[in-house]
Amino acid sequence: MNTMSFFTDLAGIAGEADVRFDVPASALTTFRAGGPVACLVTPRDADVLASVLAAVRAEGCPYFLLGRGSNLLVGDGGYPGVMISMRQHLSHVRTEGCVLHAEGGAMMSDCAKQAYADSLAGFEFASGIPGTIGGGLYMNAGAYGSELSDSVLYARVLMPDGEVRTFTGAMLGLSYRHSVLQENGGIVLEAAFRLRPGKQEDIRALMEDLASRRREKQPLEYASAGSTFKRPAGYFAGKLIEEAGLKGFRIGDAGVSEKHAGFVVNYGHASAREIRAVMDHTAEAVYGHSGVMLEPEVRMIGVF
Ligand SMILES: Cc1cc2nc3c(=O)[nH]c(=O)nc-3n(C[C@H](O)[C@H](O)[C@H](O)COP(=O)(O)OP(=O)(O)OC[C@H]3O[C@@H](n4cnc5c(N)ncnc54)[C@H](O)[C@@H]3O)c2cc1C
Repeated sequence: MNTMSFFTDLAGIAGEADVRFDVPASALTTFRAGGPVACLVTPRDADVLASVLAAVRAEGCPYFLLGRGSNLLVGDGGYPGVMISMRQHLSHVRTEGCVLHAEGGAMMSDCAKQAYADSLAGFEFASGIPGTIGGGLYMNAGAYGSELSDSVLYARVLMPDGEVRTFTGAMLGLSYRHSVLQENGGIVLEAAFRLRPGKQEDIRALMEDLASRRREKQPLEYASAGSTFKRPAGYFAGKLIEEAGLKGFRIGDAGVSEKHAGFVVNYGHASAREIRAVMDHTAEAVYGHSGVMLEPEVRMIGVF
């Protein structure tokens, strides 16, 4: 594969304004770390997205569908393929009756704001999750006892072979931080959620309460990817990490948060390698202390 000439072909497909080269992952992820992404494409509509997908697959070029990058660590050596971002042009949100429709690149916080504006309850829990609808469904994002699986009606999904399929909530196979998208490589183009009529004052009060609980418990002042590890059955990752004596453990500018041990944070200029080293050390130390194996929730890609 002649990489540069292929990337130039992509500019022909997506338009020069929507193709950028060597974009630092630190600017694309909430961890604010990682090396250059060789090519970043921001398709202007779903047809262009399908054409870009067909081209990268035909070329055998590695590709990755980027959401907000809030659950992602890219290696310091960067990502050598094509990242596709839907946030710029495929992020429209609207409601119709009690149903909220959102494109895959819409931020969950914007969906919560729209639901509030239209007096719809049931999306408040997602207002503080800093990811997109696509990334949220991929992970079945959830907080404070609710998950996207509670309200999703269906999603329109672009499959790797170019077919667009409609998945009902049941077909999405949503369980704790899991969806069938993790196996089938489908890209969420848009999704619909059933909400319920509510009073704006109640919706706002709940969102404000959840936001203040987050501010109180979570190290939002530092870059991170939220909870670094999945919750092991029967335990809380943060508690296990704290019990293993790791609160405040640090390698360079990466460390286990003093405020919430479930968060590995970037104190300023951490490299991806430092962040990963803190994660590896944490998992090892917790296993040694409690015999529980922590599994990262954060996705790691690229060259470390
Ligand atoms: C401060 C902070 C707090 C957080 N709190 C929570 C929380 O309370 N609950 C929670 O669940 N998570 C939380 N997170 C983690 C993160 O926000 C969620 O996992 C979120 O769902 C990730 O969405 P994203 O758009 O950032 O996805 P990314 O990190 O960009 O990608 C994650 C995965 O989703 C895939 N993906 C992205 N878009 C699509 C698409 N359109 N179609 C198919 N696949 C796609 C990507 O390819 C990747 O595999 C938090 C993170 C931070 C930084």
